[in-house]
Amino acid sequence: MPATKPTRKPAAKKQPKTPPKSRATHGPLAPDRIAAILKALDEAYPAAECALIHHSPWELLVATILSAQCTDVRVNLVTPELFRRFPTPAALAQATLPELEELIRTTGFFHNKAKSIQGAAQKIVAEFGGQVPQTLAELITLPGVARKTASVVLGVCFGKAEGVVVDTHVFRISRRLDFAQGETPEKVEQELMRILPQNRWIDFSHQIIHHGRQVCAARKPLCDRCNLEPLCTSKDKIWQS
Ligand code: SF4
Repeated sequence: MPATKPTRKPAAKKQPKTPPKSRATHGPLAPDRIAAILKALDEAYPAAECALIHHSPWELLVATILSAQCTDVRVNLVTPELFRRFPTPAALAQATLPELEELIRTTGFFHNKAKSIQGAAQKIVAEFGGQVPQTLAELITLPGVARKTASVVLGVCFGKAEGVVVDTHVFRISRRLDFAQGETPEKVEQELMRILPQNRWIDFSHQIIHHGRQVCAARKPLCDRCNLEPLCTSKDKIWQS
């Protein structure tokens, strides 16, 4: 029998390459949209800063503890006299609870807050050499200090972005902008940490807090004055360009 040529399998047809559909290239989390919103925030709030008046990490730590369920304006009225009387952790560690309660009474929840700042002062003296620690893991061991307070101090005083501060404004507006869907500040923070560049974590919170106070209020957002409006599809919008 004549030798037969081995038959070659026909080459498989090349499939056209199509980019995978993902939230990374489409929809509310598309990088272009996120970048446009960050740019608009930079334009509207180029110098957004923490509104709590402070002169040291210690003062900001105390002011942030006092700001729970209280306005920054009210805290700023209370802290000058508190820090005049007790300027350092060592001084405040020696204060009595009634003394502290009297000074911070108008910030609300003053029994708990007095215990927190006294406890934080004592622990900073006993375990951190009188200096506010500079890591999130250490800060959250202090009485009255949770992740949000720790991130405020780390970001504002030490320029360290270990988390995103999610207060009531950041929680509400991140969801309005479709940056997050989480039902708790902790979940929203995790979502923001996934989509925002780390070098924007600190500024983003400051800018959104200003935006929430000045424009994107909880009840009546001023959408007609909002420079994010063309990028916003929130059902809470009250005006559409
Ligand atoms: S358009 Fe309205 S709802 Fe959207 S971010 Fe601006 S103020 Fe807030």
